[in-house]
Amino acid sequence: MKRDPVAFLKEDMTELRGNNLEWVIRYLEGGSKPHCVVNGKEVLMLNTNNYLGLATHPKIIQAAIDATKKYGAGAGAVPVIAGSFDLTREFQEKFAKYKEVEASLLCQTGFAVNSGVIPMLVGKPDIVVSDELNHGSIIDGVRLSGAKRVIYKHRDISDLEKQLKEAEKGGARRICIITDGVFSMDGDMAPLDKIVNVAEDFGAMVFVDDCHGEGILGKGKGIVAHFNLQGKVHVEGGSMSKGFGVFGGTVAGSKDLIEFCTNKSRTYLLSTAHPPGIVAANIASIEVVENEPQHFKSVWEHTNYFKKEVQSMGYDTGRSETPIIPLIIGDPGKAQELARILFEEENIYGTPIVFPMVARELSRIRVQMNALLTKDDLNTALSSIEKVGKKLDII
Ligand SMILES: *Cc1c(COP(=O)(O)O)cnc(C)c1O
Repeated sequence: MKRDPVAFLKEDMTELRGNNLEWVIRYLEGGSKPHCVVNGKEVLMLNTNNYLGLATHPKIIQAAIDATKKYGAGAGAVPVIAGSFDLTREFQEKFAKYKEVEASLLCQTGFAVNSGVIPMLVGKPDIVVSDELNHGSIIDGVRLSGAKRVIYKHRDISDLEKQLKEAEKGGARRICIITDGVFSMDGDMAPLDKIVNVAEDFGAMVFVDDCHGEGILGKGKGIVAHFNLQGKVHVEGGSMSKGFGVFGGTVAGSKDLIEFCTNKSRTYLLSTAHPPGIVAANIASIEVVENEPQHFKSVWEHTNYFKKEVQSMGYDTGRSETPIIPLIIGDPGKAQELARILFEEENIYGTPIVFPMVARELSRIRVQMNALLTKDDLNTALSSIEKVGKKLDII
């Protein structure tokens, strides 16, 4: 019998479905805002990374329109050939100033930063010491590098030190510590001040991926500013697609670092640059974050209120220290059921997070705060979360 070369497509999907692990895409019919229409249904959205609500900010939208009219819809080339605009230079200068570093680079995405830059910073003769809960794109970047990967226990400085001692004995050419700034499943923060101290003792490079910290920590400047570590972190990776509400990856650091990445990162070199409208929107987004502190203030007010209320209902919010608030349920079936009922009956959109994104016994719904929510919205969500939680015997 001739074999079917693509039979695995259906087989793998059947297995995923059987394990309740299939992603079924829901489609937004309008902008990404707390009140939005998803699959024809009006819902309260509590699951976007658009923390400051900037994805639909009028000034940022206008900047995208104006630049698109002037420069066109597409970049036409990779950044190093003919895809960089005066806008790109303006963005990079503004972003560097904002992050209080010498220079910055606008890359295609945050994922592209990790998969393009990490394999150039380290290679076979080197060791990467990585937090066990780091983002998947960091894991992929480290795999591509061919460097030896050593995992330290989540946020555990004494384990980090132990691993660094081992790495030193092994005679690695370079040692690089990599951590998320804010961990996206739990909303907790890396102890970056302590990491930097330990790194200095071992002559290790520090790479922090601040995708969920920008716009949120350090009055919006990110985790490095939060800990007053300006000038002490060698590489800051980030994303314009979360708190800033637009699109793109960033690298921030020394001039040497940026020249190195410009010339070596394969994702930067080989993938088309952003459309000019996106670059202009990113510039406008930095301006909004700098000039309109109310969005920052609002997302934190919501965070503190919502967290206190769900905790007093009896929900376990784990280690959350940011607008990412997990409601840890434990049982994966129950977490999925809670999310399903909230969506279908209560019009509340939160994300169920189960294995393999988190350990099975830590299944949860992840809620993320947004500056554009109102107190009424929060109270509506809270009363639904309480009602359904009681019905399912969670609280
Ligand atoms: C979202 C995220 C990324 C990817 O960023 P994109 O710009 O969406 O590609 C990388 N790292 C972390 C920690 C993230 O949360």
